[in-house]
Amino acid sequence: MKFLKLLILFTVVSFNLNAQNNSTLKSNRQNNVTYVIKNVNIIPMTKENKVIENATVVIKENKIHSINKSIPENSVIIDGMNKWLIPGLIDMHVHTLADGSPFVIYPTKGPIVSYNTQYNMTPYIANGVTTVFDLAARTEHFGQRNEIIRGDVIGPRMALAKVIGGKKSNPIAKTPSDGRNAVRFAKEEGYEFIKVYTWLNEETFKAVIDEAEKQNMKVVGHIPVAFEGKPAKDIFIPHFGLIAHAEELSKQTDDYSYKKAQEFAHLAKENGTWLIPNLTNMVAIISQAKSIKNVENLPNLKYVHPLMQNKWITSNGYFGRKKFIPYFQKQADFHKLIVKAFKEAGVPMVSGTDAGISGVVWGFSLHDELKLLVEAGLTNEEALSSATRLGAEWLEIDDKIGTIETGKFADLILLEGNPLDDINNTRKISGVFVNGKWIDRSKIDLMLSDVEKWNNANKEKYDWKELLNTLKN
Ligand SMILES: [Zn+2]
Repeated sequence: MKFLKLLILFTVVSFNLNAQNNSTLKSNRQNNVTYVIKNVNIIPMTKENKVIENATVVIKENKIHSINKSIPENSVIIDGMNKWLIPGLIDMHVHTLADGSPFVIYPTKGPIVSYNTQYNMTPYIANGVTTVFDLAARTEHFGQRNEIIRGDVIGPRMALAKVIGGKKSNPIAKTPSDGRNAVRFAKEEGYEFIKVYTWLNEETFKAVIDEAEKQNMKVVGHIPVAFEGKPAKDIFIPHFGLIAHAEELSKQTDDYSYKKAQEFAHLAKENGTWLIPNLTNMVAIISQAKSIKNVENLPNLKYVHPLMQNKWITSNGYFGRKKFIPYFQKQADFHKLIVKAFKEAGVPMVSGTDAGISGVVWGFSLHDELKLLVEAGLTNEEALSSATRLGAEWLEIDDKIGTIETGKFADLILLEGNPLDDINNTRKISGVFVNGKWIDRSKIDLMLSDVEKWNNANKEKYDWKELLNTLKN
């Protein structure tokens, strides 16, 4: 259990020392409060997933203390009548903003841009995303994780993967021995996972994955361009555990048939490689390629830091690529076939959204992904599994989170509608338990409006192009 240390830390945290400094957090110092959700319909998301109707759930400290047992004295009662309780959601592919500078990512240099960690985390929490897997983690993300563990910030559990690439990354690995050293160093720094990236050459890619296995670190990532045109079987290397998006497969082929999707699925099954379909990101790319208005009018853009709002609109990498739209659309259609074929072959898929790339807003995007997965052929229950139990399994913390069972951490979402009837009901959030801390709808709205107000008040201060110019001079 690589993650055990982090999770033990979570259990030690008992109250929020700095809460008094922040208006929205003031009322959240409730870790010693025992909660009881009464008359709630539990969707446990275990393998059997037998819905428990009209149940009583006791949440004590940060755990699910009991289900349908006695109610402790002096507990706070939450009415669960006509509501549904699901496990907190896991986004398995995010890029959380953290202090730093574009292109210069040495923590020793001091940040050009710094962020309020709570504002970065609020969109996750507001959407019931209680665990994230950051696929381009830096030292600063460990700092954020510590802020959450200390209780200064209400945020998700963070699993962190270190990128090892062949260029434009830190570290850069151009040879197998570079690659092995990079893995060992990442291990020493405390990273739990390795992300392999696009520009690794074939030998280095294989060496990184082999070394990661020796170091007992799981590997997620891209399929390097070095593999383009090679037989599909070559890209499935033992211990390459998780593909970061379906696009990694569509890039390998011009054949967008179901037969090709099945070939990938069988190879993935044989190799034990799981998939993050990440349908959201291609849909977002197409929408931006069509019109920049589609970014400007994103309903949740107001929760995005003003620097990123400015970047997504003024320096959008996809807008203007109109002639690529038919190609993007073909890929998006093929990604749906991939989901179908992987389901048919029994390859586990986990939800991830690339939150943080332009047009994909943290937290909100996971609900878009669930909807797209259902459109691609997963049942509502399968889509939910991909964002709960299965993500926890891949991260090897399924004994701690991912289902609603006694003894697990209380990461929970109370919903106004049954998501097994309609997947869009995951958006109807009545409240969220984050590590046993209850954040009801009014608190969520307050937290979101804090972010929105700050973003609006500081819009003029952030100009992406100007920032790049400053860095050049
Ligand atoms: Zn990504």
